[in-house]
Amino acid sequence: MFDDFITFVRQWYGTDDAISLHEPRFTGREREYVLDAIDSTFVSSVGAYVDRFEQELAAYLGARRAVAVVNGTSALQVALQLAGVESGDEVLMQPLTFIATANAVVYNGAHPVFLDVERETLGLNPDAVGAFLEKHAEKRKGGVFNRTTGRRIAAVLPMHTFGHPCRMDELVEIGNEYGISVIEDAAEALGSQYKGHHTGTLGTMGVLSFNGNKIMTSGGGGAIVTNDEKLADRAKHLTTTAKIPHRWEFAHDEVGYNFRMPNLNAALACAQLEKVPDFLQEKRSLAAAYKSFFDAVDWADFVEEPAGCNSNYWLNAVVLRDSALRDELLAKTNDAGVLTRPAWRLMHQLDMFRDAFCGPLENAEWLAERIINMPSSVKLGGSTDEK
Ligand SMILES: *Cc1c(COP(=O)(O)O)cnc(C)c1O
Repeated sequence: MFDDFITFVRQWYGTDDAISLHEPRFTGREREYVLDAIDSTFVSSVGAYVDRFEQELAAYLGARRAVAVVNGTSALQVALQLAGVESGDEVLMQPLTFIATANAVVYNGAHPVFLDVERETLGLNPDAVGAFLEKHAEKRKGGVFNRTTGRRIAAVLPMHTFGHPCRMDELVEIGNEYGISVIEDAAEALGSQYKGHHTGTLGTMGVLSFNGNKIMTSGGGGAIVTNDEKLADRAKHLTTTAKIPHRWEFAHDEVGYNFRMPNLNAALACAQLEKVPDFLQEKRSLAAAYKSFFDAVDWADFVEEPAGCNSNYWLNAVVLRDSALRDELLAKTNDAGVLTRPAWRLMHQLDMFRDAFCGPLENAEWLAERIINMPSSVKLGGSTDEK
């Protein structure tokens, strides 16, 4: 029953070798820029490629500023801190996400509150956030508090799952109504658009990742994106040890971090960013091919971009019609060297978050039993490769 699927993927990639979920492609000016960084001797915490990458990334996204950092997790950590998340606060987020989203909340001494996702977007459901706040939130001096736990609710942290945008208008509207910042975990969603705007630019701040498995990579890396110049300056300061600029004095005005993206990584990032439009085109053509394949089968539904959105289709996914098929599909495809994977274990089911405050999580639990991710790399020798 899954043989046709295996054959389909093999034909698309034109190989009998193992096919991974997502691997990087270096078909642009990666070598040139990385060697240039080495020749310049600026490979570490200072260098021209960092500034250049920040400018080019902001321009690409249509955002005022981007601050490059060592990885997406640290970008999340710092963005939450700058949004005013403090020790003992709560952050509203979805349980269907990669562990980094929840970890970044804990790094700030805060508590994740898990609220449900939508079946259409796979992302945080604005209706669930609204219902939670309606039921539990109380406006007091100093902010909005969870009446049951007594904790302040400091931020909303939606994640654009596999690159599919959440319903951001509604989330931002709820945030504004209650005076709570919305920070986007757009780690998976570089190049995705919501109503014509890039994901990562819709909340107070957005966070990107350039890990090796993302749509573009800097080896390891991340960015904080914002239209707020003050927040961007704060992000830069905090991620570069909070040093007071001076020609020879070393003085720091708060406890900062060494989270700056090294110039060597930024060189790779600059070359990869040039290829993102090509990557997006390739990924959309693969998504279209998967879509027509799954339109013709009766055991799974392909996850399409939400209405009004352009998804980067970072990781293609299907939702199985019968969850009992999951393990058989995983075994058959992985045995055949066509890598597939289920969704992450839900955050509230992990040991360290078992006592977390949760809303109803029917959709997250329903999806987690049925989601399968499929090979999604850009094809080598694809139509846009430079020959
Ligand atoms: C990849 C990812 C991150 C950040 O990961 P890093 O490896 O630290 O760059 C954060 N959130 C989500 C949802 C991710 O997929």
